Amino acid sequence: MIASRQDIIREELELGTGATIGISVDQSGTRTALRIWFSDLDVRNGPVAELRPFGLKGYQVTLSFGTFSGEIVRQIQRASDEDVGLARALLSSIDPSFGLSIPGQSPFDWRVASGDFKIIATARGVNFEKDDALIKVCRDAIVPIMAAMAELIGYDVIDADDDAHILEGAILFSTVRRRERNPRNRLLCIRLHGEKCACCGLHPETMYGTAGSIIEVHHLHPLSLLTKPREYDPAVDLVPLCPNCHRAAHTRKPFPWSLEELRELMALSVHREARG
Ligand SMILES: [Zn+2]
Ligand SMILES: [Zn+2]
Repeated sequence: MIASRQDIIREELELGTGATIGISVDQSGTRTALRIWFSDLDVRNGPVAELRPFGLKGYQVTLSFGTFSGEIVRQIQRASDEDVGLARALLSSIDPSFGLSIPGQSPFDWRVASGDFKIIATARGVNFEKDDALIKVCRDAIVPIMAAMAELIGYDVIDADDDAHILEGAILFSTVRRRERNPRNRLLCIRLHGEKCACCGLHPETMYGTAGSIIEVHHLHPLSLLTKPREYDPAVDLVPLCPNCHRAAHTRKPFPWSLEELRELMALSVHREARG
């Protein structure tokens, strides 16, 4: 049954991880399972998530490393503190009902120390007949798990139209834009805050229906980053904004308007309109 739903799974995973995903059907056991990996690493060289029916009403997701993954494990060990922090935050965002376990390690300060590293998540009370139920397991467990791995491996973010020409704070500005464009930061931000604008409260999907999953990720506190370097916390520093508010926030450069300032500006223009 899960074999026919590969396309939906692939789409979710590619959006969330920013990497190309390979999927194969595994019929070696008594029940059909799926194997999911990063296409450019091959199934033997990198992390592989296995999705398998579990009991009468469940799925188990097991992430483990392939036989020839020594190289990628060494690459993961070189990940920056920021990448590690985001990877951990992504796993922490998984609902406790999945009973996430990382054998031999704490769920809060885990590391990929060797090719024996494993993550196990179990979904219970799932209706096997329903597409939605499988999509939910995928969205709530496999996507954050694979996104955490993608972050550690260092799948890069394409910085295309960066207008960081202002000398003052140019480095800061490109760091901020980079974080805002990173698909894993986006994924975490929306998982934690939902798809609602943190400034004006607009919920684009309610307003625009199926066309409307239009929400962007904004990085707060860039000023404090420049004056007194403080540790980046993706859970606190990133907020979802609708495209209008986001554009408005960045009309001041290099330090965007704060959400409070923006709300003040909006209130002023509303008053002016009411009077005129
Ligand atoms: Zn807004
Ligand atoms: Zn922004």
